[in-house]
Amino acid sequence: MLTEEILNIEKIRADFPILSRKVNGHPLIYFDNAATSQTPKQVVDAIVNYYEFHNSNVHRGVHQISQEATDMIENARDIIKEHFNAKKREEIIFTKGTTEGINLIANGFSAILQKGDEIIISALEHHSNIVPWQILCEKTGAKLKVIPITQEGKLDMAAFEKLFSNKTKLVFVAHVSNALGTINPVKEIIAKAHQHGAAVLLDGAQATPHMKVDLQQLDADFYVASAHKMYGPTGIGMLYGKEEWLNKLPPYQAGGEMIDQVTLEKSTYAPLPHKFEAGTPNICGAIAFGEAINYINNIGLDNIAAYEEELLKYATEKLQEIEGLKIYGTSANKAAVISFNIESLHPYDIGSIIDKLGIAVRTGHHCTQPIMDYYQIPGTVRASFAFYNTKKEIDNFVKAVKRAKTMLL
Ligand code: PLP
Repeated sequence: MLTEEILNIEKIRADFPILSRKVNGHPLIYFDNAATSQTPKQVVDAIVNYYEFHNSNVHRGVHQISQEATDMIENARDIIKEHFNAKKREEIIFTKGTTEGINLIANGFSAILQKGDEIIISALEHHSNIVPWQILCEKTGAKLKVIPITQEGKLDMAAFEKLFSNKTKLVFVAHVSNALGTINPVKEIIAKAHQHGAAVLLDGAQATPHMKVDLQQLDADFYVASAHKMYGPTGIGMLYGKEEWLNKLPPYQAGGEMIDQVTLEKSTYAPLPHKFEAGTPNICGAIAFGEAINYINNIGLDNIAAYEEELLKYATEKLQEIEGLKIYGTSANKAAVISFNIESLHPYDIGSIIDKLGIAVRTGHHCTQPIMDYYQIPGTVRASFAFYNTKKEIDNFVKAVKRAKTMLL
């Protein structure tokens, strides 16, 4: 068992100044980590250092500072490549985040898909993993098929196998569900899809903060993630694509940085990764993303996963003591996310009351309306934990939820 003392949570918490502020007169308890995680001082320092001493445009400058900025952004690419064990650094593309990565792939596949081709997604997906494929299907005449879910909030794998046909070109699933926390059996999904000749894109937005992801071992064709859920800044993320796939796809946006030769008649494109990085990139964001990954690795993702599992178990047991409370997403294989409702109380009302006590949770449909439709509920209260949270915070949270229940019922 990894206790708070062994991980030295107090020392870790000191890296996050926001955790010592008060909200509505109470010490902040931040349980909205699945939406955006907090940023440690080390990452903020990297941002300040960049703007104070190295701010310059990259890749084109002959002067010293431009070369420093170029080295720093390319070093961040190397950190990401190593962290996710990609085969080549050229396979890592900087994006604005998960949503942009998905749109980049959907745009690329619009040049590949034929009328009647099929894409499989799951009913567990975030809206950003549903809408781009619906638009792609409208554009190309391709067909969208959906893996259903079970009451526990798991993918129905027997149904999944039956969705394949010789027209299946792409399978797209979240590695971890943001609304329910379910960790999907992605290795099995990838193996099945490859047997049928389909490519696989995984949405790693909720997996990457919590677990080690080895892209070569997984054998995913594409993988996307957002830095702001990994203790980094907003507006930056990454797309991984196998080199052969990225070479096949057309550019997503056009402009500077992504070209090789331009004449007024015709242009040729830069090699990977720059073919997909048109315009001045989010240089500082990328550097800070690399620093966030260094920070996580200093604690160790295995330690993080073990400690968060303990928090999840503790919070689940404590919440279940509340009469009338129902947890949605009960898979044994789950990340540190708890979605729940209490009898007929509206999640928004519970969230608003506990906010007055300094507790930040998310309420609503969590950009997953199909999941809410499946359970026939308007939304849930979602508490999502990070390695800087503590059991004492969970105790205070449970107390606050009980108080909200008493006030509202
Ligand atoms: N996919 C999942 C599973 C998410 O949880 C989120 C954000 O909550 C997204 C995609 C979209 O991420 P972003 O807004 O960083 O692009």
